Amino acid sequence: QSKEQGRFQVQFFSAEARERQTVRYSMEKRLFKALERNEFRLYYQPMIDMVTGRTTGAEALIRWIGEDGTPIHPDQFIPLAEENGMIVPIGQWVVKTALNELSVWRGYGLDHLRISINLSARQLQEPDFLLNFLQMLSHSGENPEQVMIEMTETVVMRKAQESIDLLGALKAHRIKIAIDDFGTGYSSLSYLRRFPVDVLKIDRSFVRQIGEMGEDSEIVRLITLLARALSLEVCAEGVESELELSYLREFGVGSYQGYLSSPAIPSGSFVDWVLKSRAGSITP
Ligand code: C2E
Ligand code: MG
Ligand code: MG
Ligand code: MG
Repeated sequence: QSKEQGRFQVQFFSAEARERQTVRYSMEKRLFKALERNEFRLYYQPMIDMVTGRTTGAEALIRWIGEDGTPIHPDQFIPLAEENGMIVPIGQWVVKTALNELSVWRGYGLDHLRISINLSARQLQEPDFLLNFLQMLSHSGENPEQVMIEMTETVVMRKAQESIDLLGALKAHRIKIAIDDFGTGYSSLSYLRRFPVDVLKIDRSFVRQIGEMGEDSEIVRLITLLARALSLEVCAEGVESELELSYLREFGVGSYQGYLSSPAIPSGSFVDWVLKSRAGSITP
């Protein structure tokens, strides 16, 4: 009987797997064409100073505008793009577009805002990554100090020595470096000290539980203490409530992002948002 069941399951799963394969295949076909069809957009999520309430910059978050016009989130296609290598040209498009956004902001007198760009493992493994990145930066003529890159601790730790070299080179060009989703991966404190990092971004899973579960509050507090000891900035991700904000402020977290102030905003509306929020009509 269990043999029958087993056979049934095998068939069931293989049909499902085939279905998944088909979906993946058609998505992959569209992904290969997406760049030339100009289907990607960058949205910008404001980063807010905890003390002044001012916007200090924004994180560039990619969206893929699908056939029906709705934006597809990166979790739906970045893993696939990493597998098939499309992340490399997509990543270059992201860097170019984000740098261009800085010149748009400058046109509105917003030349103090920092742009933060996400990089995934595969992009950093490209031997030409650094050269390409620096070339795009110098062609753009933008101020490197307004540019921050984000990578997760897992990515950094997996190739620790290479990462130290790479981050060191970026740092030498005055580019800022943030560790994304901090606290969710594996990181060694001794390495953290050797990495030329500027910002720790506290993962939103800790922010979500703040106040409710004592332990997560303690983790956030500890990360803040750690950051202070190492002279790093701390940015909290995914802040959705005033209560979370007040805890984070009390812990000494320097800045935050989250739906409480704003989700990621399409490029054309971001400047408006900043100007309005500065005028005080948006009070986070
Ligand atoms: P991430 O860098 O950790 O970005 C934060 C994610 O949390 C974003 O999701 C953002 O929209 C979302 N978020 C922000 N505030 C809140 C909040 O208050 N509540 C909740 N529930 N969510 C919030 P998104 O845009 O879907 O991006 C997901 C991930 O995709 C990013 O995580 C990042 O790792 C990756 N990603 C995004 N853009 C790029 C890119 O241009 N290149 C690469 N390589 N990866 C990217
Ligand atoms: Mg990020
Ligand atoms: Mg994050
Ligand atoms: Mg993430």
